[in-house]
Amino acid sequence: MSKPFNLLFAVSEAHPLIKTGGLADVAYSLTAALKPHVHEVRMVLPAYRAALAHAGHLEPIATLHVAGSDAPVRILEGEVPGSGVKVWLVDAPFYFDRDGGPYSDPHGHDWPDNAARFAVFARAIVEIACGRTGLGWRPDVVHCNDWQTGLVPALLALESARPAIVFTLHNLAYQGLFDADVFQTLALPAALWAPEALEFHGRVSFLKGGLIFADRLTTVSPTYAKEIQTPEFGYGLEGLLAHRARHLTGILNGADYGVWNPAHDPLIAAHYGPDTLHLKAANKDVLQRQLGLPQISDAPLLGLIGRLVEQKGIDLLLSVLPALLQHPLQIALLGSGEKHIEQALLDAAKHHPQRIAVHIGYNEALAHRIEAGADMFLMPSRFEPCGLNQLYSLRYGTVPIVRRTGGLADSVMDASATHLKAGTATGFVFDDATPAALLHTLERALALFRKPAQWRTIAACGMRQDFSWNKNASAYLALYREAQATPAA
Ligand code: ADP
Repeated sequence: MSKPFNLLFAVSEAHPLIKTGGLADVAYSLTAALKPHVHEVRMVLPAYRAALAHAGHLEPIATLHVAGSDAPVRILEGEVPGSGVKVWLVDAPFYFDRDGGPYSDPHGHDWPDNAARFAVFARAIVEIACGRTGLGWRPDVVHCNDWQTGLVPALLALESARPAIVFTLHNLAYQGLFDADVFQTLALPAALWAPEALEFHGRVSFLKGGLIFADRLTTVSPTYAKEIQTPEFGYGLEGLLAHRARHLTGILNGADYGVWNPAHDPLIAAHYGPDTLHLKAANKDVLQRQLGLPQISDAPLLGLIGRLVEQKGIDLLLSVLPALLQHPLQIALLGSGEKHIEQALLDAAKHHPQRIAVHIGYNEALAHRIEAGADMFLMPSRFEPCGLNQLYSLRYGTVPIVRRTGGLADSVMDASATHLKAGTATGFVFDDATPAALLHTLERALALFRKPAQWRTIAACGMRQDFSWNKNASAYLALYREAQATPAA
């Protein structure tokens, strides 16, 4: 038995404290899965106004002095509601106690001082990581996530004694890139202004701090780990990622079946499982009623939930809508994001009120009801590091239709003739990010939907897949041990 160790999990969002996407779900469920296997785990998160409101009881336990914050920064200790994982909120009110999102203001614009905000967060994490809180606690491993924690590995590299560092890349599209003068205003050590450190084509990249200085890198699916080493997905960082390939692993995210399980989901009308799939129909009925769609039980209902950004390929859906609506189907869509995509979807719903229901906004309960009520779930993503909604859809018997990229490729088995015959098909997968490829695959799905016995076999096979954290949390544990035993440099 190797010795138990302390883990500090540094992240910029976590369900149910604050969430913009899958990262928050991962932070919640991965730390919950790891908790029994490490000596002590602490999550560290900025004390956003929303997080303060959702955290329950908090106790100030330490005061830190960090560069970039005139006022002392407090550490507030609490527990993540639901998982009981201990959380330390970095309380720098000037930077975090605001209305709006974790990264953007209430109008959706990035906070202009994001670099300063996450530099202060990183510096507080470094103090904790080096045991300089006066609390007598220090981690053996720091697990950082995405650019918001990218300065942590870079700053820790300059310390004489530091914990092992694992850095997970959840989405390479978000890099924390700022103009060169920001580097000066943050008073970062001069040694970090170099192409082999934070400099990226004359700008400062927070993400590079993680990519270069962490002992081990992970991303959230095996396919995405390969994709980001190519120019198509690498945003100019593919060379660096290929250089670090020996220390880069793809570990698929898990789904939290405590929250996402149609057998006991409190947010849905009727509970069901793979052997009682016929009970799912009641959820469709309720969803159609709630969304104002005609109650036609045999019209296939296509669901889509997500951030409405270019990545998600909504434009492909918009292009095929006229042809798709030749079929007697309905569409239920929930999301928010770029205004022009929101508007295009609202326009489509306005023109086809009997066929398309669009809900703009963030709505956890409706997300569960769409997963339970829809027959099919669409994810035509141009890239998808892992994707969680297809994992939830599989569990809800809501057959996913996805593009073969990233975690979608690693979790959905296409209903090809071979897989149908073998009984292993769980969804529909298409290759090219083109309207023609999407339409062809949608029509394939619609044709099979007309064969209820075959359709039920596919849905039930999806429901029986196990994408829980059990297996993949072990992969992280193994990596934490490896990072301690053999640091990168
Ligand atoms: P990403 O991390 O790129 O946003 P994922 O599929 O990994 O995509 O995770 C998205 C998560 O956010 C899922 O839990 C999904 O249900 C949720 N989600 C996204 N948009 C909304 C919304 N408008 N309302 C409710 N939940 C949403």
